[in-house]
Order: sequence, then structure tokens, then C-alpha cells
Amino acid sequence: MSATDPDSPPTSPRPFVVGIIGGGQLARMMYPAAIRLGLQVRLLAEGPDVSAAQVVGDVTVGDYTDAETVQAFAARCDVITFDHEHVPTEILRSLEQAGTAVRPGPDALVHAQDKAVMRERLTAMGAPVPSWQVVADEQALIAFGDAHGWPLIAKTSRGGYDGKGVWKLDSAAQAAEPFANLTPGVRIVAEEFVPFVRELSALVVRSPSGQAAAYPVSESVQRDGICVETTTPAPGLTEKQAVGAQKLALQIAHELGVVGVLAVELMQREDGSVVVNELAMRPHNTGHWSIDGAVTSQFENHLRAVVDLPLGDPRAREPWTVMGNILGGDEPDLPSALLHCFARDRDLRVELYGKQVRPGRKVGHVNAYGEELASVRRRARHAAGYLMGDPAERG
Ligand code: ADP
Repeated sequence: MSATDPDSPPTSPRPFVVGIIGGGQLARMMYPAAIRLGLQVRLLAEGPDVSAAQVVGDVTVGDYTDAETVQAFAARCDVITFDHEHVPTEILRSLEQAGTAVRPGPDALVHAQDKAVMRERLTAMGAPVPSWQVVADEQALIAFGDAHGWPLIAKTSRGGYDGKGVWKLDSAAQAAEPFANLTPGVRIVAEEFVPFVRELSALVVRSPSGQAAAYPVSESVQRDGICVETTTPAPGLTEKQAVGAQKLALQIAHELGVVGVLAVELMQREDGSVVVNELAMRPHNTGHWSIDGAVTSQFENHLRAVVDLPLGDPRAREPWTVMGNILGGDEPDLPSALLHCFARDRDLRVELYGKQVRPGRKVGHVNAYGEELASVRRRARHAAGYLMGDPAERG
């Protein structure tokens, strides 16, 4: 191909080779957005068959905790972003020193990696958080419980996910549990138990130029520590509460210097007030509704932020969008189960992640949207339940 060949790719001074670390479904769903934007994607995946490695053309299989592997991968990219938050901070700093942009950068990302660091920073900036304390041992945990009341929540500072590494302790008799089998370097954070009535997610995107966009606030339902359903916008949230949650998320994104998607998980009390549970700095499960329900999906906006393009409109297209996660259940053959779902509901949107069905594993999601919440919810629940092989929906 010569430079004058009309089929030559255009040359551009912008950083258009995006390296994604982690090959899960989030990387997989970034890919169609990258294609639309004409970005070149390289993937550092955990294995040759993981969800995103099945679709991305340029895949390196390697260990994201190995500095040399990540450095060699990043040397072939203009900018690095993530499917997950587990790449060690020191490795990310070495990439920046070598001149590769890392978005979000290590100084922001540490707040999504370490719950003690996150609690400290949010407290310092005046964001609403539960009472909390890093506790060195069982005695300190008991003292925290005696001061703040039982039950309490204990969490590992690092390495927890989907409810693993979180304990609800009813009394001092259980205080030894979190300290058993503790990985060196991981701390235990004690937190006041928040009697929340529901969980909300305020999702925002921020670009390196400082432009930001806030999605409508979602309600999320968790079962056994895993998100099973979201409703957007969160039903019954007043305008003031919604704007308050969006402003809080924008403030956190700004103060932490986040680039890309920031999901702020909130717990809402009966009186309507909220406290921050945790932060995620990557496209988030509570933003999957936006693929079909918003003008610009969280995946496209994440990538626009990563390459510093103006962000797209985050507004909802329809009054209600309900997302239902498909968790591995009794139905091993998801593509065949689609026949029923699509025949019944032509407006239903489904995304399957190409993952082996295993009990409780996130293998896909459905989106239903429309004008009437009860019917939108019913459609999403039926489809997600049917695809999981739920007998109640198989009737
Ligand atoms: P993970 O990192 O595994 O998602 P989280 O910190 O989000 O862990 O906690 C998992 C769940 O535990 C939350 O979704 C919430 O339901 C509950 N939880 C966490 N912190 C508290 C708290 N302080 N009070 C009451 N429930 C909590």
C-alpha cells in the first residue's frame, strides 16, 4: 500500500491505538464502540478464549501482574485503559514514565483498588461515607463495634469483588473471621452498618480535558453480592436527589482526576440521604442499560474520554430502561434460548458474553425499555429469567 493509495488508513496525531488490559465482558463491549470510532484496539488478555479475546483481532495473552509483560504490551499502544482495576499501581507508573498515557491514571485508580484509601480520600473531601476505621486486629474491630454499634460491616481493603471480602458481623463473637487467611498487605476496614433501603449508581464520564457527562442515576438490585437488575432512572428519586447524586459523582471524578467512566455506588437510607459504598473506574454493570437506552453508551463515552474526544450525550432515549443480568443457571445453550425471547419480544435487546455457563457467573444481560415501568420490568425479568433457565419463567 502506498501513501497515495486511497485505501491507506488516515494518519493522525491523536492517540488512536488503545490498549485494553483485561479480557472480560467489559473489554468485549468496548470493542464495537472502538470500531465505530475507528480506533485500533490491542488486548492484553488472561487467556486465548476469554470473553473479549474471542472478538478482538489483536490479542496478547499474558499476566497483567507481570511488569515486563505489561510494559512490552503498552509499548505498542498510545494509551492504556482497563477491563478491571487490578493492575498493580507500580506497573502503571512505569508505563507513564515510559511515555504511555494510562487512563484512568494510577493516582486515580488506587481509589478503586483500595477501599481504605478510598474512604480516607472521600472523608477528606467531605463526601458522605459511613463511619469507618482501619482496624489492625480483632480487638480493634470489637472496639469499633462497641463504639458504633452492632451489626457492623468489615471489608478487606483490596481484592474483594461481587461481595467476596465483605462480612456482616452481628457480635464480637464473629470478630476473628475477617482476619483469618488475610493476604499480606491487605487491611481490614470496619464500617458502620448502613440500614439502606436501596442501592443507587451515579455514573459519570470525564475526559482528560476536564469535560464531564453524567448519566441518569440508576437503581441497582444485588443478590448474594452480585448485581442482578438495574432500573434507569431510579424510580421515585426526586430531581433534587438525582442532581445531588450526579453532582457528588462529578465532584469525585474531578477531585480524583478520573479519566473515563466513574461509577459511584451509593446506599440510600429511608430518609432519602445517600452514602458512598464504593467506586469503580471502568465501564460498570450498572451502566449496561446505556448501550440501548442512552444516546451514547458508557462504552463509547469511556473510549471517547480515553482518546480525549468530546463526550456524547448521556441522556436516556426512553422513559425507562431495565437491565437484567443473565447469570449462569440451568440453561447451557443461551443462543438457542434466544429464539423464545426474541419471538416473544421484538424490542428486547440481549448481549451474550461468549462465556461458559457456570452457576452464578455473569454470562450476558438483557435490556428492555419503554414508557411504562411495570411492563418494561416484566419483559426484562422474563427474558433474563428464561435465559437463566428459571422454571418460573419457563412455565
Ligand atoms: P464488593 O467490592 O465486593 O462489591 P462492596 O463494598 O460493594 O463489596 O460491598 C458489597 C455489598 O455489601 C454492598 O453492595 C452492600 O449491599 C453491602 N454493604 C457494603 N458496605 C455496607 C455498609 N457499610 N452497610 C451496609 N451494607 C453494606
